[in-house]
Amino acid sequence: MRKNIVAGNWKMNNDLSQTEALISDLKHQKNRGNAEVMIAPAFTNLYSAFNALKDTSIEVTAQNMHFAKNGAYTGEVSASMIKSVGIQTVILGHSERRAYFGETDLILKQKVDAALAADLRVVFCFGEELADRNAGNQEVVVASQIKNALFHLDKLVFKNIVLAYEPVWAIGTGETASPQQAQNMHKFIRKTLNDKYGKDVSENMSILYGGSVKPNNAQEIFSKPDVDGGLIGGAALNAEDFFAIVNAF
Ligand code: PEP
Repeated sequence: MRKNIVAGNWKMNNDLSQTEALISDLKHQKNRGNAEVMIAPAFTNLYSAFNALKDTSIEVTAQNMHFAKNGAYTGEVSASMIKSVGIQTVILGHSERRAYFGETDLILKQKVDAALAADLRVVFCFGEELADRNAGNQEVVVASQIKNALFHLDKLVFKNIVLAYEPVWAIGTGETASPQQAQNMHKFIRKTLNDKYGKDVSENMSILYGGSVKPNNAQEIFSKPDVDGGLIGGAALNAEDFFAIVNAF
């Protein structure tokens, strides 16, 4: 059975002392629902965050990684480096990585392969831009992002993948896909998985929605049958807001 998950993507926010302070606030919150909780701090704070949360049910994840095992890739971090500080999950394909750092479907395919080979779980992000949606092409775009990066994989590895649908026009803009728009796309994603891999994969896949999820809209979005949680940006930087979203399940 698929899991409900709420993941906080901290992006390039919070230095070490701010990370420690936010984690301390998070530890005072209660998970009253049934969602798994993850947070993704910056690389410099992963080790400290992992140690601070290792006896709790909050999982610490990485925001990105390089596909190579090691070598002359200045400024990059590999899967084994991430694993070596205790991290089990990495976010890949965030629209900011695609837009600002030139991450193509082909690069992401290599990253997904490297992460899975290192036994990391992958939260794979994708989503259409506003122009795609205005042209009615959102399903074509999303299907090709998923196919290009994931459809070479064996069905057995999908237990280590979580999908995050994040329409680019809703990220950090305050504009949210309506609960029905999210449901329609999540249903389409599940069907796309089912057509290729069958129900074993499609029905067990957690599909998160991301894009301006806040305490006041989370419950309605999460109430949709194909929405299994959220990837949260801005609202993940405040412990009370984040846990209001976690507890919206
Ligand atoms: C994100 O960055 O993945 C995101 C969904 O951000 P926000 O919640 O701020 O829109």
